Amino acid sequence: MNIANLLIKSAQAFPDYVALAKGETPHLTYRNLLRKVSVMATHLRHRLTLQPGDRVAFAMTNGVEAIEIMYAIWHAGLVAVPMNAKLHPREFAFILQNAGARVCVVTPDLAESIAAIKADCPALERIIDVTTRDYSFMAVGDPLPAAMTAPTDPAWLFYTSGTTGRPKGATLSHRNLLAMTLNYYADIDRPEPGGSILHVAPISHGSGLWNFPVLARGGVQVFPDSGRYDVPETVGLLRRWPDATIFLAPTMVKRLIDHPAAADITPGQIRTITYGGAPMYVSDLKTSLDMLGNVMVQLYGQGESPMTITHLSRAEHANRDHPRWEPRLASAGLPDSCVEVRVVDEAGTPMPTGEVGEIIVRGETVMSGYWQNDAATAKSLRDGWLWTGDVGCFDEDGFLTLKDRSKDMIISGGSNIYPREIEDVLNTHPAVQECSVIGRPHAEWGEEAVAFVVVREGQRITGAELDTLCLENIARYKRPKDYKFVAALPKNNYGKILKTELRKLV
Ligand code: AMP
Repeated sequence: MNIANLLIKSAQAFPDYVALAKGETPHLTYRNLLRKVSVMATHLRHRLTLQPGDRVAFAMTNGVEAIEIMYAIWHAGLVAVPMNAKLHPREFAFILQNAGARVCVVTPDLAESIAAIKADCPALERIIDVTTRDYSFMAVGDPLPAAMTAPTDPAWLFYTSGTTGRPKGATLSHRNLLAMTLNYYADIDRPEPGGSILHVAPISHGSGLWNFPVLARGGVQVFPDSGRYDVPETVGLLRRWPDATIFLAPTMVKRLIDHPAAADITPGQIRTITYGGAPMYVSDLKTSLDMLGNVMVQLYGQGESPMTITHLSRAEHANRDHPRWEPRLASAGLPDSCVEVRVVDEAGTPMPTGEVGEIIVRGETVMSGYWQNDAATAKSLRDGWLWTGDVGCFDEDGFLTLKDRSKDMIISGGSNIYPREIEDVLNTHPAVQECSVIGRPHAEWGEEAVAFVVVREGQRITGAELDTLCLENIARYKRPKDYKFVAALPKNNYGKILKTELRKLV
């Protein structure tokens, strides 16, 4: 089934319900959203001459247009390539090249950045700014029937940062996205028509993926006017659009419960907060439950098996009398309905209960591979199993606890930072002999990057110079917040840098 059918069905079942809202203001009903999307599909196919399977990217600060363009893309049988608005132009360029996107839709704040790299992206024919007539004109004309797609056709290229320093496009099919949606109803929640989802986290990731279960149930997708996460604004929106579903990274949950405005939230305004993407402190989780009621549901997933590997249900959060309530809160919960999850040794043999190994996943949500990257695909997908790179163990009741993250990844403010990416940039400086980047705990962001640098003999360099180099090459949020100049890096017998030793130093 083409995932665009979710909208077609909602337009039949809930034609007059509000589908999209800009802040407190309704933007389109389901009937009108379907109409707009199917006219936009005509433009994509006939005016812009895109062919089934062609890629359309977008670089957008959160806004209603992201939902419009995504459904227009699927309705037209094309492939969506959502990009995180915070990426560096070089990262945008890499993704646009790798995806071979022919069109890129932008919000005005990103229009210049994308225009500046257009020459480096041979396939990119057109950039459409959602505030121009070029975009509004796409709503004028005749509708197109939804394209017939095969379940395995790609629908969404989810670009994750790779440990190789280059983003990899996890190819998610229509079937993957449908399975993820149905799994939400099975394991997380079944939202009621007329409820809402507040998109305060980037639409290119978890919040965008959760659009499906709410849209298919006739809820309204609300985009804050500020285009970002602001706690008082979020609390205000809850008054206007109650029974809300919100996806938050753990650091965002912490910002919510630490803010005085959270005291104004009343029962029924928040239906569900799904949190995940990084570990959450149990103390924060308990505070959230005490303050907000039984609304928390955890998910553990990754772009390669979107939002679905394990979950810790609402009921488990509420099960305070259970003797293992606390360890369960610290776990990532039970395997999702649509996947098999194992903890294995290097050969793929399942580990006994309680023993730590790599987490592998198989099932309906697992990606078909990385777009145009067979080598990375072969490494991650083996005999139908996705090797997550995460390490953990099962307890006797089947709850999975994550022991470590994909080796050395840093998670700052809910965004993944791969040290290798930063190290690659620092290593281009002629005075840098070697370097290593690790995460340091940070009260607000969870973690922040710190670089250890060995300077070549006879040369000098400052942290400010390295900071400038990073700003020129990678997204702002990824750059190290501290540079530590050292005489040598700790290494093991094989000459591998021991990040574990560096971590002890911070
Ligand atoms: P991404 O592909 O950007 O969604 O990042 C996925 C990674 O985030 C996973 O492989 C885990 O390392 C981490 N992660 C996701 N969910 C959780 C969770 N509930 N608890 C701890 N880490 C998580």
